[in-house]
Amino acid sequence: MRLSQMLFVTLRDDPADAEIPSHKLLLRAGYIRRIGSGIYAYLPLMWRVLQKVSQIVREEMNATGAQECLLPQLQPADLWKESGRWDTYTKAEGIMFSLIDRREQQLGLGPTHEEVITAIARDMIRSYRQLPLHLYQIQTKFRDEIRPRFGLMRGREFIMKDGYSFHTDEASLKETYQDMYKAYSNMLRRSGLAFRAVEADSGAIGGSGSTEFMVLAEAGEDEVLFTEDGKYAANVEKAVSLPVNAEPSRFTTYEKRDTPRSETIEKVCQFLNCSSTQVVKNVLYQTVYDNGMTVLVLVSIRGDQEVNEVKLQNELTKLASNYGAKTIISLSVPNAEAQQTWTAKSLPLGYIAPDIADDYITKNKQIHPQFVRLVDQTAVDLKNFVTGANETGYHVVGANWNEQFQLPHTIVDIRKARPGDRAIHNPEQTLQSARGIEAGHIFQLGTKYSQAMGATYTSEQGEEKPLFMGCFGVGVSRLAQAAVEQSYDKDGIIWPVAIAPYHAIVTIPNINDAQQVAIAQKLYAELNQAGIETLLDDRDERAGVKFKDADLIGIPYRIVTGRAIANGKVEVVERATRKSQEIVIDEVTTTLKQWITSATEVKN
Ligand code: ATP
Ligand code: MG
Repeated sequence: MRLSQMLFVTLRDDPADAEIPSHKLLLRAGYIRRIGSGIYAYLPLMWRVLQKVSQIVREEMNATGAQECLLPQLQPADLWKESGRWDTYTKAEGIMFSLIDRREQQLGLGPTHEEVITAIARDMIRSYRQLPLHLYQIQTKFRDEIRPRFGLMRGREFIMKDGYSFHTDEASLKETYQDMYKAYSNMLRRSGLAFRAVEADSGAIGGSGSTEFMVLAEAGEDEVLFTEDGKYAANVEKAVSLPVNAEPSRFTTYEKRDTPRSETIEKVCQFLNCSSTQVVKNVLYQTVYDNGMTVLVLVSIRGDQEVNEVKLQNELTKLASNYGAKTIISLSVPNAEAQQTWTAKSLPLGYIAPDIADDYITKNKQIHPQFVRLVDQTAVDLKNFVTGANETGYHVVGANWNEQFQLPHTIVDIRKARPGDRAIHNPEQTLQSARGIEAGHIFQLGTKYSQAMGATYTSEQGEEKPLFMGCFGVGVSRLAQAAVEQSYDKDGIIWPVAIAPYHAIVTIPNINDAQQVAIAQKLYAELNQAGIETLLDDRDERAGVKFKDADLIGIPYRIVTGRAIANGKVEVVERATRKSQEIVIDEVTTTLKQWITSATEVKN
């Protein structure tokens, strides 16, 4: 492609509304253009990158025996009602765009395709002989994200590869899951990215596990905890660890103590001169289930620990059926305004004990009349602890479970693992923290969708059984931008060779020099002929401008038909290292061919 004929517009300055380097660079270098909030046009250079990523994804998927298809983006609400997800996906914080057609039928724009694929499986899979089966597609997804940001990282319209597998049993599902683990690792490695596969939260769906593939970058929205020995890595949402040991309590007798102005753990510890590991902290949460029922939750946890709200949400989702509900709509620490909606009298905030009375809750059909009391294991283990006295200005010390306070029935692990904590698999290892961009997520779904939608098969023994399912997603457009976030310098993008829009750019410093032009055109033709995707910068611009642009758009190799042509050579510059060398014109193609091959070889 000749630059003189391309829609090629680069910006000198950073666009105002871009926050992270990759977003700024893709805009400045003319890869993407913002059309609306979370909506971007992929301009020709970007589209080439996206096709390269897609091709790598496709090859790795096909190698596992999965088959490509294309499912509709417009999805009837009925399917989502069958799975029970219509309301959660379209109401409140739901992210599905929904619409009504001319026949007054409700439809949604696909944020994901479990419903559609399960409906197909229900109709078409009859027998165990057809299993296992894995279908995938590469397609635009729509999600009305609450906070679209960072360009393609979190768009409202973005490209995803999503695959869905069907199995007779869990063992077969696990096999495919392992294959996908390898395929995903290959995809990221081949795309030239540094990444980490981490244990991830599977949410309320349960299932026996899920793994996220995190591209490591400072700007990543996710926190990953890992150990140096490489044996443990998890999303902080899911991570587990050993808490530091609690200090033995110095309060051996139970007493109520005057603790004025000690609403926080820090203040009460200072006042009583004790360690926060000797305190039982009681944290209030408010949750609303999908049937509109508000439930107040009291979490008792050791004073130095924090609640992991993802784990808490999972525990509360498990309890949904107790309240006639299926799932949770919201979970929060109620502020003063929220408290007013359910308190019958004012709460002793900062002084709450594990047994705070249920009569603080107003009588109302939509509000569960009792606190749901959960206790984290860290609090269960304490002896002679300090906690609130249910009276403003007072705490109790030297308390014990099942003496002064009844131990709540529901014992849970909902503490947040933190960097510096000891690892469970080996207490000599401590957790370290890194930031990552979630590029892919593989998931063992089990029978959730097949059961809800009646997708069954006939087993070898002639029994009708629900299909086991897996689902596997890669954010193609997010991955492409993540590559930039991981690889740039002050002058621009440094594409990994495997996903660069072009391998090489031939720059003519002076287009009025006939010899420069002739050699450049010859090389341009020869390189393309040899399968080296090459741009020709034949614009009537100063050499400096052309070099700047080539650096900005990040093409791996720049060939300059400058002074060296007098000696039958051209200058070849490697973008990543800025290494420059003069190469005999006739040897340029073979040399580049070698470089590209070695740069794109997968190093396992
Ligand atoms: P996140 O937690 O980042 O919102 P998710 O858990 O909703 O992601 P999945 O539903 O598992 O994501 O989707 C599969 C992949 O699609 C993700 O791993 C991610 O790479 C990509 N993806 C998800 N949402 C977006 C988005 N709004 N913009 C771009 N890519 C996205
Ligand atoms: Mg999401």
